[in-house]
Amino acid sequence: MVRVRDLHKSFGATPVLRGVSLEVAEGEVTCVIGPSGSGKSTLLRCVNHLEKIDAGTVEVDGALVGYRESGGRLHELPDRAIARQRAEIGMVFQDFNLFAHMTVLENLVEAPIGVRGLSRKDAAERAREVLRLVGLPDREDSYPRQLSGGQQQRVAIARALAMRPKVLLFDEPTSALDPELVGEVLSVMKELAVGGLTMLVVTHEMGFAREAADSVVFMDAGRVVERGSPAAVLGAPRERRTREFLDRVL
Ligand code: ATP
Ligand code: MG
Repeated sequence: MVRVRDLHKSFGATPVLRGVSLEVAEGEVTCVIGPSGSGKSTLLRCVNHLEKIDAGTVEVDGALVGYRESGGRLHELPDRAIARQRAEIGMVFQDFNLFAHMTVLENLVEAPIGVRGLSRKDAAERAREVLRLVGLPDREDSYPRQLSGGQQQRVAIARALAMRPKVLLFDEPTSALDPELVGEVLSVMKELAVGGLTMLVVTHEMGFAREAADSVVFMDAGRVVERGSPAAVLGAPRERRTREFLDRVL
């Protein structure tokens, strides 16, 4: 479903991604782990075309993100076509990014109406469905500030789901939460994983990676150092850098 090939990205003269390749099969969960500054967020932002890439390719559901291939060359798509592709790729951020001046329901119907062209009635119906899924059936009239961090993050997940994305990207979705609120967000994510959603998850939650991931990718300094099943990468890492990282976080 997601295929990243030899992805390179620099900011100015600083290389941040130095040839990253990875795949997320349909219905599977891939967790990306690695030290701060290793390029995890940049990788997600490139998959979502929030950053322009320097070299390599990103494919989602068979389509090159932001590019069209013809005659062996890549041609950039017009902005509208990029926006259309990005509508298929959901993203959940560390700090929720809800629209503060809108109710939960308004947050959830905005994109399905504006981007997908749903009627207000259909969008509201879909919004209520995803709010039930994240365990917040009775909060549609609340404003984000009236909710706990864990509830806000579950609304953010619901908002992404309301677009029926082909893949959902998570960038450290529980890092901004008080410890006692982490569990409710992880349990929603586990349910989505079991339900067959394709997910690419940057996380420091090794317990989640062990339980929910089909594969784990360890990144360091802009490269994939090691990848495999959670049991292999977390339980019996082959690379010294992976072992050193796990010793620090476990
Ligand atoms: P963390 O675990 O702290 O979130 P990360 O693995 O997500 O780290 P990135 O945020 O992808 O790392 O950053 C990788 C490197 O790229 C860092 O050195 C960062 O300073 C740099 N970087 C990221 N975004 C930009 C930008 N817009 N301009 C310049 N440098 C950037
Ligand atoms: Mg990051």
